[in-house]
Amino acid sequence: MPTNYSLTHLPDSALLRDLNALARRDRAITAALLAHLAEVDARKLYLPAGYPSMFLYCIHELRLSEDAALKRICAARIARQFPGIFEAVAEGQLTLAAVVTLKPFLTKENARDLLASAAGKTRSELELLIAEHFPRPDMPTQFAPIPSTLTLDECANVVAPGRPLRHIALGDGCANQVAPGRPLRHIAPLSVGRFALQVTIGQETHDKLRRAQDLLAHAVPSGEVAQVLDRALDALLRQLESRKCGATSQPRRAPRPAKGQRTVPAHVRRAVWDRDDGQCTFVSEAGKRCPSRRGLEFDHLDPVARGGEATVAGIRLRCRAHNQYAAECTFGVAFMQEKREQARAAVAVRQAERAEAAARQAEHAARKERAAEVTPWLRQLGFRSDEAQRGAAACEHLDDAPLEERVRVALASLSPHHAHRAGRDSRMAMN
Ligand SMILES: [Zn+2]
Repeated sequence: MPTNYSLTHLPDSALLRDLNALARRDRAITAALLAHLAEVDARKLYLPAGYPSMFLYCIHELRLSEDAALKRICAARIARQFPGIFEAVAEGQLTLAAVVTLKPFLTKENARDLLASAAGKTRSELELLIAEHFPRPDMPTQFAPIPSTLTLDECANVVAPGRPLRHIALGDGCANQVAPGRPLRHIAPLSVGRFALQVTIGQETHDKLRRAQDLLAHAVPSGEVAQVLDRALDALLRQLESRKCGATSQPRRAPRPAKGQRTVPAHVRRAVWDRDDGQCTFVSEAGKRCPSRRGLEFDHLDPVARGGEATVAGIRLRCRAHNQYAAECTFGVAFMQEKREQARAAVAVRQAERAEAAARQAEHAARKERAAEVTPWLRQLGFRSDEAQRGAAACEHLDDAPLEERVRVALASLSPHHAHRAGRDSRMAMN
């Protein structure tokens, strides 16, 4: 590495030679970095280091930018599945952007061929290659709604206008998968303590805002949106916090005892939330506290299975990742994996049962509807309304049969002796 950043003394040839050598080294380092990221990610080493995700580890520990972290984690995960990618990146055959573009199309079966044909291609050549291998139907002409946040790719187009619009890209789907809870892109700091927020809202939200402004006419005469928003968020946070941690302005004097060992009573949730300041309490060996304030869970210091109690001293706030990590440390990875799979299987069974019940209900309703077609004919033949309904019920099981057949069965059920004659009548009436 040159320690002197002033290169004015170098002849052109040396400058170009050094630049090429550096680019080569950069590619090799990128490939090695991906391999390390992939392994650290797979071993979840960010957890004991005090981070709930690989993304936050990359941002805070490795000092990568958000976009660089997203791209590298995405590429590292796919490269771990198809290790040929590491070498292709090191040799300059594939750029990180190309790896991310190829990601959704790579399968065990096509990886070798696809990676070989993608080698050395520019971005637009790569897009042509994908269009050739994975053709998509023509896009209808349409006016698209304005997206609420820009994807990485759209940002690239904003930054570099005139570049071809790209449709296959590291979109929000991928970004959300890699980095849930990353900072909002459409809130920009202006000066100390001041932020600009720009959003596009729908008609309904617009109407709600107007209504709120009207109702706040005395408190906020100017109707200033920032003040209305502040009050709206206060109300929303009160509601969400009371749901999450049992926050209330009027706590019960004598708290009710916990119903089950796993239930954490509201007064305990409130006290724990205040004590832990609404933040995950995991601290790494190096003393780094997990910064997560998302999806926090009330965790038993001693597992319930080992007699842990739902008291203020016995409960702490943990993000989901660190809650699971603690359980894995206590019970072992395999045991917890099995527990999670059991829970997932139970959910799947419940979903299947619900779907089956809904299908049965729909079938029953359809039968009733088909049977009801018979009643006008029975009424026309002089049967009373209740009789006609009884007749319709009698032919419900024949929902596939022609109407004439169903009317005959209904008649037979109402007047077995005249079934034959009535059947003839019904034929005449229907003709
Ligand atoms: Zn945490």
